Amino acid sequence: MDYTIEEYNALVERLLELSVAYYDNDAPLVSDFEYDRMNNRLKAMEAAHPEWIRPDSPTQHVGGHVSAAFAPVEHEVPLESLQDVFSFEEVAAFVERMDGAVAEAHEYVAEPKIDGLSVAVEYRDGQFYRGATRGDGQVGEDVTENLRTIRSLPKKLKNAPARLIVRGEVYMSHDTFQTINARNEVEGLPLLANPRNAAAGSLRQKDPAVCAQRMLDVIFFNIQLAEGVEYQTHYETLEAMAAMGLPVVAHTLCRTAAQCTDAIAAIGEGREGYPFDIDGAVIKLNGLAQRTVLGSTAKYPRWAVAYKYPPEKKPSRVVDILIQVGRTGVLTPKAVIEPIRLAGTTVTNATLHNQDFIENLGVNVGDTVLVQKAGEIIPEVLQVVKKDSEGFFRFPETCPACGAPVVRDVDGAAIRCTGAECPAQRLRNIVHFASKDAMDIDGLGPAVVEALDKAGLIKTPAELYYLDGQSVAAVERMGKKSAENLIANLEESKGRGLARLLCAFGIRQVGAKAAKVLARNFADLDELIAAGEERLTQIDDVGPVTARYLTDWFASEQSQHQIRLLRMAGVSFESREELADSRFAGKIFVLTGTLERFTRSQAEEIIERFGGKASGSVSKKTSYVLAGANPGSKLTKAQSLGVPVITEEDFEKLIEE
Ligand code: NAD
Repeated sequence: MDYTIEEYNALVERLLELSVAYYDNDAPLVSDFEYDRMNNRLKAMEAAHPEWIRPDSPTQHVGGHVSAAFAPVEHEVPLESLQDVFSFEEVAAFVERMDGAVAEAHEYVAEPKIDGLSVAVEYRDGQFYRGATRGDGQVGEDVTENLRTIRSLPKKLKNAPARLIVRGEVYMSHDTFQTINARNEVEGLPLLANPRNAAAGSLRQKDPAVCAQRMLDVIFFNIQLAEGVEYQTHYETLEAMAAMGLPVVAHTLCRTAAQCTDAIAAIGEGREGYPFDIDGAVIKLNGLAQRTVLGSTAKYPRWAVAYKYPPEKKPSRVVDILIQVGRTGVLTPKAVIEPIRLAGTTVTNATLHNQDFIENLGVNVGDTVLVQKAGEIIPEVLQVVKKDSEGFFRFPETCPACGAPVVRDVDGAAIRCTGAECPAQRLRNIVHFASKDAMDIDGLGPAVVEALDKAGLIKTPAELYYLDGQSVAAVERMGKKSAENLIANLEESKGRGLARLLCAFGIRQVGAKAAKVLARNFADLDELIAAGEERLTQIDDVGPVTARYLTDWFASEQSQHQIRLLRMAGVSFESREELADSRFAGKIFVLTGTLERFTRSQAEEIIERFGGKASGSVSKKTSYVLAGANPGSKLTKAQSLGVPVITEEDFEKLIEE
């Protein structure tokens, strides 16, 4: 296979970007299956060209960084990763390698690989003392208070050594995941993507009370350190942990490659019985002395492998195709299928993305389709395996929620409802208006909005400002006190200013960030409305499409009515985003490596506050590259283009008052 170094570099960059999204932001951009596919390609390139291997390649270090939001904890025993294999042949080859490398008893332990978040938990004199995330394997984040909220984590152990550090996996059980998502769906809140990211995102919450609501669990699979105790085998350590009262991963002793692969198959078949998601099975050499001899690479131990199961796919019949209408009016089709068990959960529907996707597959109600679940939020229809219908499903010509005509976007595959009063959009619009990034009105969540709507008190966001305490108090579940609070919060929100108001309007492509940019360029809403498309496109970051959405929105009769109501209610239209200091105006910064004094988002916020821009890639237009520890190839690129590279200290000087 011929590869080029450019391809190699591009792949490293892409995987690093995906790793930041996955490990640091708990918000993956692609499925694990897709990530593993790219990672395998990288491994193949590195095997063919070892001279290309970069120290920052994801194959050379444990993924993840330590967020400045938590105190760092140095791991006394590093928390390593695992090398992956994808076939039974590779498992057999691993066993053969181990059998050849170690002299004595050839024993292995097979365990399910839990898809959660790795933690090291320390007990002193049998009492829970501290816990940390894996981080980069050497230094993790102190999440003690969040761990304390986990009920399955024993706070006290029986007959534990004076100091004990155990490693385990924090996870969100299927039941909890489904309960939370069912609730979020009813309340119109965003759904948790999958149990793994939900667990990681919850454990890394700053507020332990938020973590507590997520009802996480933990299960252990390794003793990292046990003061004064000597164990001979891994199996023995698992039994010892269980005897101390710790929840311990299921474990099977194997002696041959065939027994190992049988155990892997059995774990895969039994995955429905586990309360957690598994993304593989781990085969570990049992003898602890043998392990020490074999040691580790920079990233993983040589004495273990993780077998990754392929994503599960199953056929099912499409019994219906439903169209849902989102806040922005986009119609999304989903296939309702006969229930199937997939990757540990019952699946009753799968996404069909859009009309083009449906047409390409040629799918219609009655057909049997292949459905796959690979860790994504919604399972996906892959193909039609048995055609029992005529043609393909066609979108309705009118909105299923309000009956208004639907139109296809000029610039994409989305089909949208044109009804401005569409009930499906209406409620979501009001919830959005009140949300944190928008007018930030406390006490106005989806349930309250729905209750106010049901009582006939509001139809549009602007009408919120005409509510009176007495009518609100009479609404189901409200009461006098919460009505008073709501009215006070509404009053307070009137002064939020232009940026938040713009974001609250929910105009397409105008989220919190774009709204801030706009607010920096105009003194008030009236000036913005008067600006026109051409003036808007002159603003950095405002493209012609956004400009068009803005002018269209302001031109609509309904929007003008909203604005009149808001003005009469005394809602401030003034910008509060005037730049106090625009020392970075026109300057573009690119961040690379690990920053110690700021988190990435803090640094970006500072840059933006001073009128600069933070960009993801280095070009000739870049003004500065701010390089932290272990900078990536952006540094090399900056040097080759002659772009000034600054350290965190230099940056601090630039931002000094
Ligand atoms: P890994 O998650 O594949 O394996 C190591 C981890 O397995 C350890 O941290 C450990 O906590 C855990 N584990 C669970 N059960 C275990 C057991 N019984 N014994 C030992 N360890 C056990 O490795 P990794 O390097 O952290 O991450 C790679 C994974 O992350 C891949 O699955 C990859 O797909 C995914 N990933 C996905 C994206 C994405 O964008 N979707 C990005 C980066 C990584």
